[in-house]
Amino acid sequence: MRKIVHIDMDAFYASVEQRDDSQLRGKPVIVAWRGNRSVVCAASYEARKFGVRSAMPAVRADRLCPNAVFLPPDFPRYRAVSRQVRDIFHRHTDLIEPLSLDEAYLDVTENKTGLPTATQVARTIREQIRTELQLTASAGVAPNKFLAKIASDWKKPNGLFVIQPDEVDAFLLPLPVGRLPGVGKVTEEKLKGFDVHTIADLRCLDLSVLETRFGRYGVRLYELARGVDESKVVPDRPTQSISAEDTFERDVPLSETEPMIRRLAELTWAASRNERRIARTVVLKLKTAEFKILTRSHTPSSPPSSCQELTAIALSLRERVALGPQQRFRLVGVGVSNFRSGGHLGSTGSIRLKVKLYLDIYFTVAKLTLVMWLHRDKLSLDNYGEAGKL
Ligand SMILES: [Mg+2]
Repeated sequence: MRKIVHIDMDAFYASVEQRDDSQLRGKPVIVAWRGNRSVVCAASYEARKFGVRSAMPAVRADRLCPNAVFLPPDFPRYRAVSRQVRDIFHRHTDLIEPLSLDEAYLDVTENKTGLPTATQVARTIREQIRTELQLTASAGVAPNKFLAKIASDWKKPNGLFVIQPDEVDAFLLPLPVGRLPGVGKVTEEKLKGFDVHTIADLRCLDLSVLETRFGRYGVRLYELARGVDESKVVPDRPTQSISAEDTFERDVPLSETEPMIRRLAELTWAASRNERRIARTVVLKLKTAEFKILTRSHTPSSPPSSCQELTAIALSLRERVALGPQQRFRLVGVGVSNFRSGGHLGSTGSIRLKVKLYLDIYFTVAKLTLVMWLHRDKLSLDNYGEAGKL
C-alpha cells in the first residue's frame, strides 16, 4: 500500500503578503494586477467571505469587495517561499511532485525521518511550515493521489484529513461525481444523462458502458469510482522554462507592445535569478486579437547576461512577426528556456560542497544513533502504526 500526502498552502500568495506586512493581517487582501482583463491570483480568507475567488476577473472582485487591499503579484518572492516549503518536504521524502507553487504530492510510503505513520508525517510538515515560515497549509493523507487531493480540501483552511484504506468507500460513495479529477461541467452533464449524480451512482455503470461513452477516460472513471488510482508521484523535473505574460487593457498594434515587453522581461529576469542554471533561449509570445498564438525564439551564442540584454532580444524578436501594421494583439509574453548548468561552482567549490555534505550526513547519522540509543525503550513497540494504517 502506498502512503500519499497532498499538501496545499492556504491562500498562498495572499498569506505571504499578510505575513510580511502586519498592516494587512485580518484584512481582505486580493493579489491581482489592476485592470479590466486581469484575474485574481489569490484572495485571503477575509476576502473570500465576500465571494472573491482565485481566477475571477479582478473587476468583479473589486465590485464584490470594494474595501479589499489590491496588491500586484510578486512571483519571485512567492517562488522563494515555495522553495522553503519544498526544503521542508525534502526532510521527509524526495518523492515530491509539485503541482504549482503552493501544492504538491508527497509519497511517504518510506520516509526519511522514520515517523511511523503518514498521518504523523503530514502533521509534522504542517507544524514545521507553521513554526518556521509562519504560514498555514492543509494536508490530505490517503492511499493514493486523487483521494489525498480531495482530503486536503476537506478541512481547508489549516486542516488535516486522513482517509484510511478501510474508510475509502464510506468517504467516496456519497460525493458528487464533480469531485473526481477530470470531471468538469461537460462530463458532469453527460453523466447526468445516465442518472449519475454521486460516485455511488457511477459505480453502478458497467465498464463497457463507460468505455463506449468516454473512451479511455471511461476506464479511469471506472477505477476512480472504486477508489483506485495507480498513478505514481513523479518527482520534480528541473525547470523547463520561466516566463511572464500579461493581457493588454485593449488590443494594441505591435509597435505599442514595448513598455509591456520591458516590464515582463524584468519579471522573467528576476525569476530566472533563482535558477542555478543558465537559460540560453529567449522566447517572445504574442496572442492576436483573434486568439492566435505566435512564438518567436532566439538562442544567442552566449546567453543573455543582463536584464537589458534579455529585453533587447525580446524586443528584436518582434521583427520576425510579419502580420502587417493593422494587426492587433491582446497578450504578450517573455520567457527563457533551454537551461544548461551554469558552472557557478568551480571544481574546488564542488569538492568543498561535497565534503560539507558528507560531514553533514556523518553528524546527522551520529546524532540519530545517539538519540535512538537514548530512547531505545520508547522506540520499541507503541510508536509503530498498525499494519494497513496510514
Ligand atoms: Mg492553495
